[in-house]
Amino acid sequence: MPPPALLRVALIVFVVIWLFGPDLFRSTVPVWLAFVVALGLELQFFVGALRSSPRPRPDRGPQAADRARFGYAEDPAELLLVREQDEELWIPYSGESDEELDELIAAERERPDWEPPPPEREELLPPALRRLLVGLAVIGGLALLLWFVDRHTGWDSLSADTRAAATQRFSREASRIAAKPVTVRCDESGNRVGAVQHADGVAIVGGAVAYLTPERCLDLYRLAFDGEIKSSRTARALAVLAHESWHLRGIRDEGTTECYALQSGVDLGRRLGLSTGTARQMMRQQLTENALHGRGSVDYVVSADCRDGGPLDLEPRSSRFP
Ligand SMILES: [Zn+2]
Repeated sequence: MPPPALLRVALIVFVVIWLFGPDLFRSTVPVWLAFVVALGLELQFFVGALRSSPRPRPDRGPQAADRARFGYAEDPAELLLVREQDEELWIPYSGESDEELDELIAAERERPDWEPPPPEREELLPPALRRLLVGLAVIGGLALLLWFVDRHTGWDSLSADTRAAATQRFSREASRIAAKPVTVRCDESGNRVGAVQHADGVAIVGGAVAYLTPERCLDLYRLAFDGEIKSSRTARALAVLAHESWHLRGIRDEGTTECYALQSGVDLGRRLGLSTGTARQMMRQQLTENALHGRGSVDYVVSADCRDGGPLDLEPRSSRFP
């Protein structure tokens, strides 16, 4: 399979997995990245195709074989090219009249080995440009599909009243953790958090407002209002809400904030509808994952102090952690 076709198949597979595959994939791989890479490769294919010289067209003059046949090897100018419709005939010419010329043409046509040349294929666009347009159409189509699916299944598909009720609930929970009244907003515009920054939430240390991505808001909404649990995604959403709440409370250090968040996440999850056991298991899973790959940023990795009975244990007398 040629590279451009391979690229398109890969992009389609990626989008399908992203839409319908495991939650972990969706929550760790930003979908826009695939589109940027695909777009870059399409342009690279295009530029590469433009640079590679096109195949030289065959010499339209009398070919060596023609000249040899008629004994005009040294002087091709004495062969006359006659075009009729799609046919091209080389006629040896030495000042004959029109009638004589017609006979020569007829004789040339009678030759048993004469075959009409294949008609040239008419191409509206150069192949490189055509390939680029096909590539762009595939990318655009997939982006449209993503937008459509998100529009009808995402946070934006909820009514304004439902979203307001949900964010009020999130704000109440965040206020408990922050130990003061704070507001949680879902960043529908994508200006504050979201795709490009690849952050799940943002809050000013000691501030009063935190923003979460619509994806996290939707997972929290599903848990709190529909009782729907999506394993690692629900766990991550709880951890993010708790994380931003601890920032609002005044904790700046990311590792400390995350360590506190995973402990508060147990109670937060329970209040939003999980059993205590499930909530605890989810936060332990988050802590394990954090230790394994630090979620792509060293800043977020919790320190060795984040352990049962350690300096960051919020309940040092309990033997459970988180
Ligand atoms: Zn943070």
